[in-house]
Amino acid sequence: MLKTHNCGELRIEHSGQTVTLAGWVNNRRDQGGVIFIDLRDRWGLTQIVVDEQDNEQAHSVAEKLRSEYVAQVIGEVRVRPEGTTNPQLPTGGIEVVAREIVLLNPSKTPPFYINQDAKVDETTRMRYRYLDLRRQRMQNNIVLRHKVVKYIRDFLDKQDFVEIETPILFKTTPEGARDFLVPSRLMPGNFYALPQSPQQLKQLLMVAGYERYFQIARCFRDEDLRGDRQPEFTQLDLEMSFVQRDDIIALIEALMIEIAENVVGKTPRFKPFPRIRYYDAMEKYGSDKPDLRYDLAAVDITDIAGKSAFPVFVNNAAEGKPIKVLRAPGMAKRSGTALRKLAEELETIARSAGAKGLAWVALPEQENDEVKGPIGKYFTVDQILEIVDRTGSEGGDLLLFLSDKREIVWSITDLLRRHIAQELNLADPQELAFGWIIDFPMFYWNEEENRWDPSQHMFTMPLPEDLPLLDTDPGAARGSQYDLACNGLEVAGGSVRIANREIQEKIFPLIGLTMEEAREQFGHMLEAFEYGVPPHGGIASGIDRLVMVLAGEPNIREVLAFPKTQTGADIMAGAPSPAEPKQLKELHIRSTVES
Ligand code: ASP
Repeated sequence: MLKTHNCGELRIEHSGQTVTLAGWVNNRRDQGGVIFIDLRDRWGLTQIVVDEQDNEQAHSVAEKLRSEYVAQVIGEVRVRPEGTTNPQLPTGGIEVVAREIVLLNPSKTPPFYINQDAKVDETTRMRYRYLDLRRQRMQNNIVLRHKVVKYIRDFLDKQDFVEIETPILFKTTPEGARDFLVPSRLMPGNFYALPQSPQQLKQLLMVAGYERYFQIARCFRDEDLRGDRQPEFTQLDLEMSFVQRDDIIALIEALMIEIAENVVGKTPRFKPFPRIRYYDAMEKYGSDKPDLRYDLAAVDITDIAGKSAFPVFVNNAAEGKPIKVLRAPGMAKRSGTALRKLAEELETIARSAGAKGLAWVALPEQENDEVKGPIGKYFTVDQILEIVDRTGSEGGDLLLFLSDKREIVWSITDLLRRHIAQELNLADPQELAFGWIIDFPMFYWNEEENRWDPSQHMFTMPLPEDLPLLDTDPGAARGSQYDLACNGLEVAGGSVRIANREIQEKIFPLIGLTMEEAREQFGHMLEAFEYGVPPHGGIASGIDRLVMVLAGEPNIREVLAFPKTQTGADIMAGAPSPAEPKQLKELHIRSTVES
């Protein structure tokens, strides 16, 4: 090695030892005759002192060093003179007096500071990703990711799971997104699809008798990108045989608690994780991945508001539309104009979720004062008191009234809840609030295509008691799906699978597949299931999102070494890029885009 120690490990006990360090120049201070260099590597910083009087050679090299130059330093560890120690730095008690310095490589001036956590334009960060990754924060995130994955592997290995790789060049594995296709050179006109997940293959591994499979699997979905979504991402993919829903929930819950406590030293807010029925989550939080770090639940007041004098509410109640209150704690404590401005802002958000308007009532801070807001006058004092009581409101709260079709009320609730939490700083980035969402509907109605879409995927088993509904009322059937939410993100999702051909065959026509099409796409599954399929179930957890919440980062790109931009591009390497005509010819592809 070109170093005997790393830059984070020397302490007072090492004083007197001759050491060799190597790394990057974090900064250099020339104090005329004496030069101080902070040498940096992955493990930390060490102060190097070069005194012209003692060592001319080292001093003349040190004079040439600039930020991000790569250097090797041979020298002696000494305790820092009194008054110059740095308690902020683990190595702050010592310094290394250079005997020899070797300039290993110079560096151009980087486009942004590597030694500071200053905000840098994201395009520049992506363009110079290797420099961005050299920064402390990114190194912490990438190392954390490694630790999480290693923890998962060790945890599952101890429980007798086998890690099995499945192919990247495969056939369509629908998870509701568009496939990435890879043209086949050897079979003209044919394409592989990159797996959206190893779903079918892991189920086939259950047929094959492995019983406990996992994989840190790369998945590919060609969909629009967001802060928590990338076209390729990594999942902990897992499947087990001879299990029921609670077995998988218990396993993953134990794993998540251990990772939180042992890898990032955070105790989850709830232990055990709460289990919330899908419908209840939507009713309260308007989301199937609610942020449970704060409560802010919508409360149904249809019975009260339906008897108010406000015609819209009376009509809505009569039409079976719900009327709900979302309480914004303390948000009414502002002057008339500021309050109206806030209400307008909230109304704009509500409209973006499909609301026709947003009615509100501001509770006075003093008990005897009047309520304010456009609809206050339609309620009797007793009705207001009943609403206050039911919602647990206090003086100074702003009550937002939501009423529309149920699904629209859900969307409004979700958006307003997130907005209010952000305004009031209710979500502590240090906290981890996990919660299971269970009892999802099996299907969502697809207006455009006039058919049902599976809410998870087509292999999800209905809840046993809802099986008859597949024939009579598929929309009311619940699936065995379970999702794990953490801090407003879905960090895992899975289900017990259909291990019975008859049930599977009922699903295909509901989701718009003829038996023929199903056989063409999934014939291998249907066939395999005729050879003794064990009851099985599984789950997948998005590693990128999980690490993102564990690190308290707002964006998935912060925990991926080489992510893509919002348009799916790698602007460092320049991907995607046009192919050579010769390559296209070999692949039997003609491009319709003029190059
Ligand atoms: N394959 C599913 C997904 O990627 C997870 C599962 O059901 O195991 O979301």
